Amino acid sequence: MKSFLSLISILLVAQLLVSAQTKNTVYKDKNAPIEARIKDLVSKMNLDEKILQLNQYTYGINTNVNNIGDEIKDTPAGIGSLIYFSADPVLRNTIQKKAMEESRLGIPILFGFDVIHGFRTVYPISLAQACSWNPGLVTEAATVAAKEAKLSGIDWTFSPMIDVARDPRWGRVAEGYGEDPYTNAVFGVATVNGYQGKKLSDTYSIAACLKHFVGYGKSEGGRDYRYSDISNQSLWETYLPPYEACVKAGAATLMSSFNDISGVPGSANPYTLTEILKKRWKHDGFVVSDWNAIEQLIAQGVAIDRKEAGYKAFVSGVEMDMKDNIYVENFKQLIAEKKIPMSNIDDAVSRVLRVKFRLGLFDKPYSDVVPEASRYLSPESKVIARKLASESMVLLKNEGNTLPLSTAIKQVALVGPMAADKANLLGAWSYNGKESDVESISEGLEKEFGQSLKINIAKGCDFDGRDESGFAEAVALAQKSDVVLVCIGEKKEWSGENASRSTIALPAIQEKLVQELQKTGKPIVLILSNGRPLELVRLEPLANAIIEIWQPGVCGGSALAGILSGKINPSGKLAITFPLTTGQIPTYYNMRQSARPSGGQGNYQDISTEPLYWLGHGLSYTTFNYGEPKPSATKIKKSEKLTVEVEVTNSGKVSGTETVLWYISDPACSISRPMKELKYFEKKELAAGAKVTFKFVIVPNRDLSYVDSDGKRFLEAGDYYVIVNNQKVKFEIIE
Ligand code: BGC
Repeated sequence: MKSFLSLISILLVAQLLVSAQTKNTVYKDKNAPIEARIKDLVSKMNLDEKILQLNQYTYGINTNVNNIGDEIKDTPAGIGSLIYFSADPVLRNTIQKKAMEESRLGIPILFGFDVIHGFRTVYPISLAQACSWNPGLVTEAATVAAKEAKLSGIDWTFSPMIDVARDPRWGRVAEGYGEDPYTNAVFGVATVNGYQGKKLSDTYSIAACLKHFVGYGKSEGGRDYRYSDISNQSLWETYLPPYEACVKAGAATLMSSFNDISGVPGSANPYTLTEILKKRWKHDGFVVSDWNAIEQLIAQGVAIDRKEAGYKAFVSGVEMDMKDNIYVENFKQLIAEKKIPMSNIDDAVSRVLRVKFRLGLFDKPYSDVVPEASRYLSPESKVIARKLASESMVLLKNEGNTLPLSTAIKQVALVGPMAADKANLLGAWSYNGKESDVESISEGLEKEFGQSLKINIAKGCDFDGRDESGFAEAVALAQKSDVVLVCIGEKKEWSGENASRSTIALPAIQEKLVQELQKTGKPIVLILSNGRPLELVRLEPLANAIIEIWQPGVCGGSALAGILSGKINPSGKLAITFPLTTGQIPTYYNMRQSARPSGGQGNYQDISTEPLYWLGHGLSYTTFNYGEPKPSATKIKKSEKLTVEVEVTNSGKVSGTETVLWYISDPACSISRPMKELKYFEKKELAAGAKVTFKFVIVPNRDLSYVDSDGKRFLEAGDYYVIVNNQKVKFEIIE
């Protein structure tokens, strides 16, 4: 009995000890509230440990050729984050084990990587995704990308890029969702939802990073890393809305931009990083600098040395230093000099830890390790890849119903540098994508048409250069074929980072190939694969049909083949305007009104002022007739809602999918407003002959108001228009 009692008392003491210990280490208690865990942990950290949490090193060799930096072989156990250039979960776990077991407090490392349009299952580039007008599908793609990344040791992706971009000379136009703020907001949110799932701590969720905060898409002349002249008015009206929407949707982190916003760089900008993001929008995650963006403050002329650069970036609101090691080198001194208060450091560390706690890293620091075969490219993810590729392709022209290819066609010439290419269909930022995973255009066609179509393949010429020696073979094949499918476009390195071009025309050799093929008199179908709008002024008249396939990812070949055969009816519409020539840049649908809108004054004297294809352009194999838009009232109070309906009829012979784009315009306001502003869109499938009603519920404060140059929102009484398919309906807002 005595020994039983002493056993009980030993157990009781042990239990007391454990609970006292847990009390002392609240941060390790997974049942404690996150804020309490953060507070507890920060209180236990010394200054070195805190500063290390604000630092990010690179693990492995950076695959981005623009980013040269030292690979840190021996990362300190207490490092806050790594850019993880590996897809090996076992290696991640080894590195993480060191952090968990060798750092004094066992703080897990946050592993980040650029998962941009898929991880191993590479989807169409983001610009193409927006042309699908199918945010639900984009969420599905991002969900799979997150799962593949998570199983490869990644917790955090530097995506989505939601930089509104209106200059297609800028290579990074491929990485965002086009020229419109609303479209960037919708697809940004769709992507964040896919990555982050319901909860960041879910098994396959990863943290999103909105980039590049803010205004990077305005780089002057389309030249990368350059100055961007952005008034506060356009900052609020054009560049901030996608960020605000994604912050509201819960995006965990943001990346500060390279560009200098009218004199104050995005990475040392207290107005955008602190006043707007943290104070007004109440973002409680953290901001990481872009690669080398802190040191670059010296080149940008706002810091004399690394120390000042670090100081400026940090006090402006950049919590994590990507790669520069400036925070690690200088913060102790800056704190000793009382330039940086400890409270700022604690706040920054808390923000980083908050994201780690939310991801569940403290409670589950290691990656699941599953065999590689079950990690990537599952049949379901390929279904999504194929669907997204087909929905993002845009039929730009289809004279005399050249497409789909008639069953009477027995022989096609498949010509051009992209005809059998695989690597370039992946697009920029597809580092884990493998050429061998890609279906080329020729493979897609062979699979789709089998023996029913003879496919004569010739490259004709390279993407650039002057070698015309392949022209003769291509022309000969064209002559003996019924139709010529010409696959031209851009190499993947021609868009993405540091890929500015002075002209958006394709190199002359590709245009010349098309000219030679057109001389055969055979119908010409242009198949364009590129990461930006192209100047098609010379090519368009030569083509009977044009289809923009963008950089469609691993399943591009079969998606295109389905469209060519007619099994898939194209439904993509442009999310970015195609200028007629490079000289028209910038041209975007939501420009402000000219002071002399009629009579052609102010137009170019040498070319048309109209672009070739506006945002929203995209054809189908069927025709959609729009009825008259019907508003529920002609006058409403500011606090009321107005519903506008339009009946759309599929008047063709095949079923098709239509996206209705709803715009508003305010003809007279205290400030001049864009000619029209996209506020809503809806995509629906219509069987042949079907009539379907599309509906837009206007919430005046959300859809009709405007912002001033400090973000204050105003809704004015007066006349407005709702515009759908170029039909305008007037209504009035009263007090
Ligand atoms: C790019 C970012 C990217 C980062 C990390 C930078 O050069 O601008 O978009 O996330 O590198 O790879």
